[in-house]
Amino acid sequence: MSGLKVDGVRASIDEKQILEGIDLEVPCGELHVIMGPNGSGKSTLSHVLTGKEGYEVEGSATLDGVELLDKPVDERAKLGLLQAFQYPVEVPGVRLRELLLEVGDEHGLNFEESSDVIEETAEKYGVTQFLDRPVNVGLSGGEKKRSEIFQMAMLRPRVAILDEIDSGLDIDAVREVAAAVEEMRGPDMAVLLITHYSRILKHMMPDRIHVLMAGRIVESGGRELADELEAGGYEVLRERLGIQPRVEEPAEKPVSEFFTDTPFDF
Ligand code: ADP
Ligand code: MG
Repeated sequence: MSGLKVDGVRASIDEKQILEGIDLEVPCGELHVIMGPNGSGKSTLSHVLTGKEGYEVEGSATLDGVELLDKPVDERAKLGLLQAFQYPVEVPGVRLRELLLEVGDEHGLNFEESSDVIEETAEKYGVTQFLDRPVNVGLSGGEKKRSEIFQMAMLRPRVAILDEIDSGLDIDAVREVAAAVEEMRGPDMAVLLITHYSRILKHMMPDRIHVLMAGRIVESGGRELADELEAGGYEVLRERLGIQPRVEEPAEKPVSEFFTDTPFDF
């Protein structure tokens, strides 16, 4: 299958089981959404797929049929797996345009060709004014996310994982970021969007929605599933499916854990 296929993925950290067996198929051309309460394992799944160290992982995850889980982070990226940061990193001293010219060079484009594609795509994503500024420096939350998605569009991954790209954004920024993701979609890319809230989905056309609770996908469906969660919260789904909350599931994450949500430690 082209795209991402996850098969029986279990993951633990420091003897604590977080993912209890995840099965998921996101074919190229489709946008799938993972929703779930805080602490259900959403970020862990994206970390495990991108190859963050420190997890004990079992199962299989393939990209276009090639196993990812036995490969280091950089090889996974070369195969076409890309994760947008929940908290995009600022890179002082490197201008966005320079970064993208490097990317173009990697893809075998000459300076002229790269410059044209950069200008054209930047215009489409409304980020032209950021091209000659250092990457992400001084941008608002929404602008950073838009810039991230623009960068992704330039990199054209096979599988894009977007973890909580809507967190901390105001309503207008959420709409803009959703539009940027829709803009990025194409027949050659599978997109896995991870979100806590259904509000971003109002502005998107997901093909499938999966609900992750206590380390398992407990329900998959169409937009109606997001509507159910919007109306009644995760509690209603828990009751309908007879799921007990995990005792250790925190209601809210401690502030100190927010900074564990990037695939690399700085
Ligand atoms: P989500 O992204 O759905 O909010 P996470 O994947 O971040 O959830 O976390 C799932 C569970 O794993 C939580 O109970 C969290 O406290 C725990 N967890 C995450 N990272 C670590 C870690 N480095 N060490 C111990 N427990 C962790
Ligand atoms: Mg998370």
